[in-house]
Amino acid sequence: MGCGGTMTDECEWDAELAEAARGAMGHAYAPYSRFAVGAAVRLADGRIITGANFENASYGLSLCAETVAIAATNAAGDLSNVRAIALIGGPMEPPAQEDPSPITPCGRCRQVIAEAAMLAGRDIKVYCASLSGTQQAVYTISELLPHAFSAADFSA
Ligand SMILES: [Zn+2]
Repeated sequence: MGCGGTMTDECEWDAELAEAARGAMGHAYAPYSRFAVGAAVRLADGRIITGANFENASYGLSLCAETVAIAATNAAGDLSNVRAIALIGGPMEPPAQEDPSPITPCGRCRQVIAEAAMLAGRDIKVYCASLSGTQQAVYTISELLPHAFSAADFSA
């Protein structure tokens, strides 16, 4: 069962994780897009590992916050222990009167998160927040990327 982007008991908001993502967003290196994103991974033992988007003058080299956070999780030896990931982001100079919708992972990041879910042997919650944090949505990675390509496809 997924969370369907709605708030239920099963899909309770992880405020601590969202705050960690907000803190990481402050370290975003995004001089080209001017769109800052922070991500925070929740591990099975409760620890949190963060990432921020990391751009480059050679645009194609840029890395999303979620991918940075998942790669840092792998470097810590915990890729199979991911239980949830939170992300928050938006324009560095937002329109004053508008609160954008919660951001969701790009397609590439969904694939990266799905790899962690495969290794964990379980679905991963994805907490999505708007820049101000006032708008929230909770999904599972299987909802965001159904029929994901995986290692199982190699042996199909
Ligand atoms: Zn991405």
